[in-house]
Amino acid sequence: MPKISREMFDEFMVPTYSPGQQIPVRGEGSRLWDQEGREYVDFAGGIAVSGLGHVHPVLVAALTEQAGKLWHVSNLLANEPAISLARKLCEATFAERVFLCNSGGEANEAALKLVRRYAYDHHGAEKDEIIAFEQGFHGRTLFTVSVGGQANYREGFGPLPGAITHLPFNDVGALEEAFSSRTCAVMVEAIQGEGGVRDANPEFLEAIRRLCDTHDALMIMDEVQTGVGRTGYLYAYQAYQVIPDILTTAKALGGGFPVAAMLCRAEVGKSLGIGTHGSTYGGNALACAVAGAALDLINTPEVLNGVEERRQRIVAGLEEIDARQGMGLFSEIRGRGLLMGCVLREHWAGRAREFLNAAQAEGLLLLVAGADVIRMAPSLVIPSEDIDEGLARFARAVESVVASN
Ligand SMILES: *Cc1c(COP(=O)(O)O)cnc(C)c1O
Repeated sequence: MPKISREMFDEFMVPTYSPGQQIPVRGEGSRLWDQEGREYVDFAGGIAVSGLGHVHPVLVAALTEQAGKLWHVSNLLANEPAISLARKLCEATFAERVFLCNSGGEANEAALKLVRRYAYDHHGAEKDEIIAFEQGFHGRTLFTVSVGGQANYREGFGPLPGAITHLPFNDVGALEEAFSSRTCAVMVEAIQGEGGVRDANPEFLEAIRRLCDTHDALMIMDEVQTGVGRTGYLYAYQAYQVIPDILTTAKALGGGFPVAAMLCRAEVGKSLGIGTHGSTYGGNALACAVAGAALDLINTPEVLNGVEERRQRIVAGLEEIDARQGMGLFSEIRGRGLLMGCVLREHWAGRAREFLNAAQAEGLLLLVAGADVIRMAPSLVIPSEDIDEGLARFARAVESVVASN
């Protein structure tokens, strides 16, 4: 077999991604190794997916044990790992019913179809308007890019689904003005992840809840990025006095195995009656076995409480690095728990990717969220040594960007 090279990516893949030059071949905990044996500290976590780091032994055991028993039966039959996962999700949250699927976009697609169908069942076809927010991100299906608040992700894909209104994030006044009897649902992230790691104000989420109640509309929390311990809560809504009607979860749910879920109250879930929606792979036994094991590990006080500790250690390190630069690097460190957005000061605005590239050259993997924000989403169980080594590499990356300035 010929050696797999980065050039072959361009030869055989559609050009929608532009991955880095190195190809990782192995991972363990918060470290990765590429084809050349170079080692990286991972502050990216596969975009907030690898909540337990790479190749966690308990997940490997869950996967291999299930792999020797049963992989897939479709939804013509039930399977034990799927039922067990659904039960765990209900017991750990407000939810009473679960729809299992394979990605965040699919979970959101299910949620959006459900709110339309629920309104249709209870109020008639005229109650169809979905309110969503500028800079929001909900996936890449046609419905979810339409509800998402980044116009460039929709461009050229029309005609698009209609009756979707985009409002500024955290603007209670705009929300009050836009709501009407036609509003069937609001879709919101507790922290806008892709949109720059922007925290929702508690008053904003409370206003959505209140307005949904007074207008018979449903509140969907997209917790695809914030869920499964990322914020130090199993789900971010648990940090607020706000309970949604529908919640979507994916990314860290399978710790790197593709799996997602839409959670809802039983009364709401009734609108997905027999035959109204489905997914061949949804509830796949392998995926659900891994997700069940990941959920058991993460939904413990040790792991959840460790998230804030780790954030503090990273923030302290970043502040030290920041203080070494005369003009300062960051204006703000946003987000909650281990979903962190380091907002570049005016002087560095637009250059987040330059820092990411410099970090990669120093052996540290980072993320960005737009042009001005360096995003970090490391493993929830990243050891202190890896945090410190990652910060040391980040400090060198910053020096190299500053030196080339
Ligand atoms: C990543 C993400 C999605 C999309 O998930 P996919 O698994 O890529 O389909 C949806 N919503 C939010 C908030 C996300 O961060």
